[in-house]
Amino acid sequence: MDIFSLGRQVALVTGAGSGIGQRLAIGLAEAGADVACFDLPDSPGIAATVAAIQAHGCRAIALAGNVTQADDLVSAVAEAEAALGPLDLAVNCAGIANAAPAEEMPLAQWQRMLDINLTGVFLSCQAEAKVMLPRKRGAIVNIASMSGSIVNRGILQAHYNTSKAGVVHLSKSLAMEWVEQGLRVNSVSPGYTSTPMNLRPEVAEQVKRFESETPMGRMAAVDEMVGPVVFLLSRAASFVTGVDLLVDGGFECW
Ligand code: NAP
Repeated sequence: MDIFSLGRQVALVTGAGSGIGQRLAIGLAEAGADVACFDLPDSPGIAATVAAIQAHGCRAIALAGNVTQADDLVSAVAEAEAALGPLDLAVNCAGIANAAPAEEMPLAQWQRMLDINLTGVFLSCQAEAKVMLPRKRGAIVNIASMSGSIVNRGILQAHYNTSKAGVVHLSKSLAMEWVEQGLRVNSVSPGYTSTPMNLRPEVAEQVKRFESETPMGRMAAVDEMVGPVVFLLSRAASFVTGVDLLVDGGFECW
């Protein structure tokens, strides 16, 4: 099924040092892509991501920066292209999560969430599209969340939910702005997923609730995000743009 191949393509993945972003960066290489792996400068996991990609016989580089800084992203795209070639694909996955009651949430906590989870995705898309648009080809997947369209019972994260709703609609808006220039933009919205964030002993009880609330009775493995993202980036999705693909084990059906 060559239409799913990402062979001979160059990708940039943000948040590639941990969790879903790390697995996706490796997954794109499994589909044949060379991958530039972007994360915060002190990312403990980025070297392992690069090593895993190289073990698949693909090229990879580590890029350090902050998605809230436009210059970091412009430099990262330039470095990626200098090392690997013209950028074809991007997955914008960097994000944070935390919680606080809305009526007490300090403005700084709200603002930091929006800066990283929403403005960070906008700035990433902007830097990536700048090089893709003149070539009239490219595909971008932004990682949103089912929290962009539902409210997680018992989790006080109005700022997070709002940021993810923004990512879904930002992706649709950019898809339409760039549809005539050959660029596709979609989002993937994971449900509860086993990442370092959800594997800590102190959230063990909360995780049991995540599992029982999910129709499939479990959280997603990070591996289960690879297929949907590779599909949306690949030629198999050549007529798919402006879509939010839920990968939630049926959560939104209940
Ligand atoms: P994770 O393991 O914490 O990975 C997030 C990565 O983003 C980390 O490597 C983190 O770096 C990096 N990052 C954070 N702030 C950044 C910044 N300002 N600039 C550059 N990189 C930054 O989390 P995850 O669970 O894999 O989540 C990945 C994405 O999936 C997020 O957008 C999240 O909202 C979304 N998502 C997750 C779930 C879930 O259940 N896990 C469900 C739905 C959606 P550090 O670790 O160094 O801080």
